[in-house]
Amino acid sequence: MRGRDGPSTMPSRVRHAKARNLSHPIVTNGPPISTEVVIVGAGPCGLFQVFELGLLGIGAHVVDSLAHPGGQCAELYPDKPIYDIPALPVCGAQELVDRLLQQIRPFKAQLHLGQEVTEFARRPDGRFHLRTAAGTTFDAGAVVIAAGLGSFQPRRIGIEGAEAFEGAAIQYRVKNAAELAGKRLVVFGGGDSALDWTLELLPRAASLDLVHRRPEFRAAPASVAKMREQVAAGRMRCFEALPHALCVADGVLRGVKVRSPDGSVRELEAERLLVFFGLHPKLGPIAEWGLALEKRALQVDTEKFQTSLPGVFAVGDINTYPGKKKLILSGFHEAALAAFAIQHHLYPQKKQFLQYTTTSPVMHQRLGVPD
Ligand SMILES: Cc1cc2nc3c(=O)[nH]c(=O)nc-3n(C[C@H](O)[C@H](O)[C@H](O)COP(=O)(O)OP(=O)(O)OC[C@H]3O[C@@H](n4cnc5c(N)ncnc54)[C@H](O)[C@@H]3O)c2cc1C
Repeated sequence: MRGRDGPSTMPSRVRHAKARNLSHPIVTNGPPISTEVVIVGAGPCGLFQVFELGLLGIGAHVVDSLAHPGGQCAELYPDKPIYDIPALPVCGAQELVDRLLQQIRPFKAQLHLGQEVTEFARRPDGRFHLRTAAGTTFDAGAVVIAAGLGSFQPRRIGIEGAEAFEGAAIQYRVKNAAELAGKRLVVFGGGDSALDWTLELLPRAASLDLVHRRPEFRAAPASVAKMREQVAAGRMRCFEALPHALCVADGVLRGVKVRSPDGSVRELEAERLLVFFGLHPKLGPIAEWGLALEKRALQVDTEKFQTSLPGVFAVGDINTYPGKKKLILSGFHEAALAAFAIQHHLYPQKKQFLQYTTTSPVMHQRLGVPD
């Protein structure tokens, strides 16, 4: 699997994310949010869970560590066609995400993006406390974990001593572009993030070197062409090499040594290293939440898709049960049944009956469809 190489803070990615989510308010921080349901993960199954809950009149907040919705579809293979979504003979992976976002729009679920859910606890009153790395807290009646293969994390530079500089002199996502102005920069990577940031930061940097492990770039051809123009004009340098060692003096990063394919090592002056080696999913904090796991997946039953903790459900690639197949189709089915189980968990007295979206006036009202 090849990921889109770079955290979602890259300029074009941010633009896409914003464009896709205009109807979904993005909340970043604040006092605890009281809600019926929190969905951890905005992949296709998390998004469809919003829909199935919405049909039953249940509201949800969705949290994802990525800065854009869509999970693997958006992050790993946005431009690839999918052929096994019922009634859509072929559908682009990003198109599927866009269609799901459109489908859940009537339910006005809030998406909290760019935030990993790091804390989870069952409260004494049976409700759930969740907290994200960005400090957003929730007080939820039920939780759906739709975390897929886990939360996407940046691939790290992997050279000795790097940990001490990560988040400061070594950055995997650009949080503050202004801070990089006037600095000597070395950018690593060959995809859209690396090239977008190279072109964005070059005019303001004291110097900029781009380092990529091979001569071909995965980034958009137009960006690669622009970068090559800058190299030809002598405004920046581009090397085919791998990171080899840090150059540190008095605890301060002074540069980085890179190794070329012929084995030669070159030292590049640098105050900041910007590393865009892509993202990879990690189960991360979910493994610590005390839920029964089997081979790094959450055990669920196939009636409710409930985990070992009542009130906590799991749908999509994150769950396991006899016969489980990691397909979007399976996750959609799981979300439908989980929604009914969640309704029963939240409102045990409420009589449950199946309504068709075709004919139900209540569902039409929820969907905003005029009768
Ligand atoms: C190349 C490729 C092609 C594929 N083709 C097909 C196909 O043709 N048909 C098909 O059915 N399936 C296909 N799949 C599989 C399909 O993409 C997955 O089954 C589907 O994405 C699972 O959806 P999900 O919502 O369960 O999880 P994901 O898509 O993995 O989304 C999970 C989300 O949860 C977030 N998350 C995880 N942990 C946390 C946390 N602690 N805090 C906040 N957020 C968190 C992640 O960042 C991620 O965005 C393909 C997969 C790949 C890689």
